[in-house]
Amino acid sequence: MFAWLRRRRRVRLGKQGLPADLVQWLEVLPFIDHLNSEERKRLEALVCVFLAEKNFEGCNGLEMRDKIRVVIAAQACLLILNLDHVFYQKVKTILVYPSTFRHRSQQTTAGGVVENREHTNLGEAWPNGPIVLAWDHAYQGGRNPDDGQNTVFHEFAHKLDMLDGITDGIPPLTLAHEEDAWRMRMDAAALRHKEMAQRGVPLFLDKYGATHPAEFFAVATEMFFERPRDLQKREAEVYDLLMTFYRQDPAASKS
Ligand SMILES: [Zn+2]
Repeated sequence: MFAWLRRRRRVRLGKQGLPADLVQWLEVLPFIDHLNSEERKRLEALVCVFLAEKNFEGCNGLEMRDKIRVVIAAQACLLILNLDHVFYQKVKTILVYPSTFRHRSQQTTAGGVVENREHTNLGEAWPNGPIVLAWDHAYQGGRNPDDGQNTVFHEFAHKLDMLDGITDGIPPLTLAHEEDAWRMRMDAAALRHKEMAQRGVPLFLDKYGATHPAEFFAVATEMFFERPRDLQKREAEVYDLLMTFYRQDPAASKS
């Protein structure tokens, strides 16, 4: 679709707002209560476009329903509340399983032997593929807004990181000079976290964030939206960096 045509369609969809039968599913998410009326309107507009443009598929017998689509879309759109749809341009399909799902992968050991491995997952984000979510966790994550864990935030943060083609924990920033400074500070924070994890120091951010800078960005995003005041207190620099990228200050609004 031509860019101008898409833009016009998005404006039209956004203005229509969410129909009442869908708004009820938005309201099962407590984070909605922390938005002011302008933000709430903007979120609804983003959700309208998201629902129109993204393809949701139920897997393992899960029947796709409005509740599932809205609950996932609303959480995903909170991340881009002050950004733009372009940040999710690589999100085409969201596969939803009823619960945790199995993922098979092949890994080569140090000795060069290819091993088939199977993991149980709550969510996945593929660089040029879908987002995969376990519905029960996606729902509970949204219903429980301040435990610092949210699979939808986590996987969509990966998609933001992947937008520039590299999964490195550094999402695309608008200005080049801003990006260099941001990258250095974020890399340093991820490294500090990893070193603390290795030393066995008690961590505020999830230990999983020590496995890769991309995971650090994803777990920090979960905390940024769920426990912003704690993040600001415990990891002020990470909070500042995420505030710059997301253009949101949830510690100020989530009181
Ligand atoms: Zn991850």
